[in-house]
Amino acid sequence: MGVDWAGMIIAIDGPAGAGKSTIARALASALGLIFLDTGAMYRAVALACLRGDVSASDQEAVARMASEVHLSFDDEGAIYLDGEPGEPDIRSEAVDELVSPVAAIPAVRAAIVPKQHLVATRHGGLVAEGRDVTTVVFPEADFRFFLDASPRERARRRARQMGQLERVDEIERSLARRDAIDSGRADSPLRLGAGVTHLETDDLDAQGVVDLILATVGARADD
Ligand code: C5P
Repeated sequence: MGVDWAGMIIAIDGPAGAGKSTIARALASALGLIFLDTGAMYRAVALACLRGDVSASDQEAVARMASEVHLSFDDEGAIYLDGEPGEPDIRSEAVDELVSPVAAIPAVRAAIVPKQHLVATRHGGLVAEGRDVTTVVFPEADFRFFLDASPRERARRRARQMGQLERVDEIERSLARRDAIDSGRADSPLRLGAGVTHLETDDLDAQGVVDLILATVGARADD
């Protein structure tokens, strides 16, 4: 029997560099759903702060940025800030540095999470990935996964993606720093939620992970 994916929500969390975007994008395309990169929204706020010379320690000013910046997405799921493309600047090392402190501010999350709910309401279904989408943003999602890999493997994947394998140690430290802030914050920390399927992906390539998830959701949706 065919499955109607139109209203399905698939939520994927995990630490930095686990391959969530690649996997979520491929899943969304396989199922005909849109892809929501929630990390891009926090990156966009961090970028707006950098451009506006707002430091993460000025929590009020950062929160104002988060509620005032207009975020939108194109059909491929790429983010726009006030109508201007966020890529590639939201992936800069300066944003990598600033984004976790910015995302730890409760007022920032309070401004961003409703925008994520709005995307889901507007489209009915989606594949969302981030740090709290399985636990806080879409706890009632039809399917929830925690995508994991060892710190070394995640650093290797990220270094390969950047074409800078020689920087793998430095990249591992930067991912670890971000993970510590994201897991240690009081508001919506990165964690494995109850009932969320934990996937260890060290021994799988991206297609292997996508196939595994497709098999899981297909099997369960057919039940
Ligand atoms: O997914 P990505 O690595 O691009 O996310 C960048 C940062 O955004 C994370 O390190 C985290 O601080 C923040 N984030 C978050 N909640 C989400 C998604 C991302 O706090 N749902």
